Amino acid sequence: MSKDYDVIVIGAGPAGYHAAIRCSQLGLTTACINKMVDDMGSPVLGGTCLNWGCIPSKALLDASHKYVEASNDFSDLGIEVSSVKADIPKMIARKREVVSKLTKGVEGLFAGNSITNLPGTGKLMANCQVAYESLDGNKKNLQADNVILASGSVPVTIPTAPIDNDLIVDSTGALEFQSAPKRLGVIGAGVIGLELGSVWSRLGSEVIILEALNEFLPQADGRIAKDVFRTLGKQGLDIRLGARVTASKIKGKGAKKSVLVTYEAGGEESELEFDKLIVAVGRRPYTEGLLSSDSGVNLDERGFLFVNDTCSTDAPNVYAVGDVVRGPQLAHKGMEEGVMVAERIAGKKPLVNYDVVPSVIYTHPEVAWVGKTEEQLKAGGDPYNVGSFPYAANGRALAANENEGIIKILSDAESDRILGVHVFGAQASEIIAQAVISMEFSATAEDLGLIMFAHPTLSEGMHEAALGASGHAIHMVNKKARKG
Ligand code: FAD
Ligand code: AMP
Repeated sequence: MSKDYDVIVIGAGPAGYHAAIRCSQLGLTTACINKMVDDMGSPVLGGTCLNWGCIPSKALLDASHKYVEASNDFSDLGIEVSSVKADIPKMIARKREVVSKLTKGVEGLFAGNSITNLPGTGKLMANCQVAYESLDGNKKNLQADNVILASGSVPVTIPTAPIDNDLIVDSTGALEFQSAPKRLGVIGAGVIGLELGSVWSRLGSEVIILEALNEFLPQADGRIAKDVFRTLGKQGLDIRLGARVTASKIKGKGAKKSVLVTYEAGGEESELEFDKLIVAVGRRPYTEGLLSSDSGVNLDERGFLFVNDTCSTDAPNVYAVGDVVRGPQLAHKGMEEGVMVAERIAGKKPLVNYDVVPSVIYTHPEVAWVGKTEEQLKAGGDPYNVGSFPYAANGRALAANENEGIIKILSDAESDRILGVHVFGAQASEIIAQAVISMEFSATAEDLGLIMFAHPTLSEGMHEAALGASGHAIHMVNKKARKG
């Protein structure tokens, strides 16, 4: 069969659309097949991230946070607001507008880069052939020199709380409530559960989060996780750890319907009644209908497409990137993999540095980290230094009424190289970029301490924490440092 394209990308989420754009920039003829459609059945680019993930959740998090500030915090600043009202349908409509602007933006980028946009389903056959079925059912086989699989992920479902898109919803349904449910249950205190729980708690719901694990945010630094747990509790999120949901059933009829949840904690069974229940128990790789039996691509034991460090699958010239492969299920990780694969196809030799993938939880205050936690360093047995600086001692944080939080830097005791940075505080998502840059360039805590930071800024907390790692933060009393 003659070649139709240099590269066919399957999936136009952040991983796939980055791959497609970079391929085209590098002079490769590129097509991208994507099956996602909106409520009206029209094709949409951008995948989960733009349509039902990162962007819509942040639109609601930002709007609901501003509502809380206007309702509760402005008076601290000497601003009296007489009546603050949340117009939830308007918030949802605005969220949709933001999404639409961005998905249209990706369409524009595809057109501007001469990428052939093929709405519909792609299935990988042998030898880089792809069976394409358009949204209106037309079928055609396409031949490429290379194929990039970027089919993403979907929410994990559990039989104990089956999604009915009415009372029991997944993250997608939870971004579309037209009013705040009075009693809202969330299963799972992971990133998505905490973010969506925060949105609806701020807008008036009584939120109870049931988490099967005994430990809160085990992937985060222990000290930070403790602070976050306490703060979210003060904000009204009732997070119950060691609480495994074992059953749920719908009770009542019509407007009186509710969902009765049974959970087991500490060997005892309890029941809770909710008006809505969000199931946020993780995401799984999405590979349904993606591979023919002779595609040559294998899955790993957890159902992810099996790839090596540079995202090659077991089939020649077939690559896989983003949530459908191992590693953190984060948009920016997929984007970098997409770009890496495109460049490797074009003959370059880039790598993704998986040691410095930043993680962010967009609660308020935000939580962000990169690199190792203190618990991981302790377990590894390597000596390390800790420097930390509280937001409460940062001038800009106080001026902005953002005095809750901490920046913590962990560095190697011998080489002083920065091994991990953990931020809990306002704008942690922005501040963490400084840590990522520092670690990419193998900076030491001393390097960061020698750099000039603008005053007054929240980022100065990073400077002080770096100085603190060597025992001489300026705004902390440390008797040893005075002599040193
Ligand atoms: P996806 O975005 O899932 O895109 C895959 C695309 O492939 C989809 O359009 C799908 O329809 C299409 N597709 C699948 N199979 C086929 C096929 N056979 N043929 C054609 N098309 C196909 N990550 C962050 O980094 N930051 C955040 O703040 C963040 N917030 C999130 C909030 C929520 C509520 C959720 C649910 C997720 C969030 N994520 C966040 C995760 C982020 O959305 C994912 O990591 C990211 O979307 C993965 O990108 P991807 O390109 O691998 O896959
Ligand atoms: P994440 O994978 O980070 O989105 O987090 C999902 C969370 O859901 C994990 O911390 C799981 O422990 C939790 N979880 C999974 N199943 C259940 C369940 N049946 N009851 C309560 N929590 C659960």
